Amino acid sequence: MSVATTGHDYLSMAIEIATTNVRNAGGPFGAVVVAPDGRTFEGVNRVTANNDPTAHAEVVAIRTAAQELGTFNLSGCVLYSSCEPCPMCLASSLWARIDRVVFAADRHDAAAAGFDDAVFYDYFEPESDRKLMPVERAGDGEERLKPFKVWDSLETRTDY
Ligand SMILES: [Zn+2]
Repeated sequence: MSVATTGHDYLSMAIEIATTNVRNAGGPFGAVVVAPDGRTFEGVNRVTANNDPTAHAEVVAIRTAAQELGTFNLSGCVLYSSCEPCPMCLASSLWARIDRVVFAADRHDAAAAGFDDAVFYDYFEPESDRKLMPVERAGDGEERLKPFKVWDSLETRTDY
């Protein structure tokens, strides 16, 4: 099987579970993490079903893959998503060290269906005034470094 055919199959799998998820009280999004050895780990959107705003299909698939593979580092894995990942899912993929992300529908298709995350993409643009959700720095005493100092001196820590 060629790489292109395989990738297409995984994308079809993501689209299929997204479609099934709609009939199962979930949002119309599905994702599949494919490990280097070919094992697959699925995730579907459960935001409204679980009252979990972070339960996007990609995040759920990453959590499942990490749990099943017993590692927080998913390097070598590819994430297939039924729709273009939002900024949270992109950031989650970066933290998971996912190699590559492939998606089917794009952000415009999602917006047409009522899922408009354009304001979130805009938030991260360099010229954003961050009005949507102000973030401010408050701690400037030495206290702020306490967790890092303890971390630095801990010999049993797991670096990531
Ligand atoms: Zn997302």
